[in-house]
Amino acid sequence: MHATGYTCAQTTGPHVSALDALSQRGIYLKHYDPTGTRYGIPTYPYRWAPAGLLTRRQLRAKGLRPGGQPVHAQILWRDGARVAYLYREADAKPKRTATPAQHAAIAKALKARRTCSSCGRTKSYYIPRSLGECLDCAEASGALS
Ligand SMILES: [Zn+2]
Repeated sequence: MHATGYTCAQTTGPHVSALDALSQRGIYLKHYDPTGTRYGIPTYPYRWAPAGLLTRRQLRAKGLRPGGQPVHAQILWRDGARVAYLYREADAKPKRTATPAQHAAIAKALKARRTCSSCGRTKSYYIPRSLGECLDCAEASGALS
């Protein structure tokens, strides 16, 4: 399986010494191909990615994103039916977070959704779109009966 449509940064990835040891003992590791000879991109079995290479999901868990870097390697599992691309943690960028101004804008928008246009009071719940006003106003105008 090749990472079609992705630019590959290098043809050879880091070796995993434990897996190299198994290969040297004649054990064939289907999804271990650090040189990319068989798969066209450095390939590792599930849970055997070398240190410093992380999946998008693993980067996200660390508050990082690939940041435009190419795919460096891949993990294959379920007999090659599943693939996850690996990125270098060293080249990753911090996840974009909202600026204070954006936070304020979001808070304002959420408050607006809790503010009744009829009585102008801010409620603890979102104003139902179907009513267009708070439950108190709706009840007073007979919309709920
Ligand atoms: Zn109201």
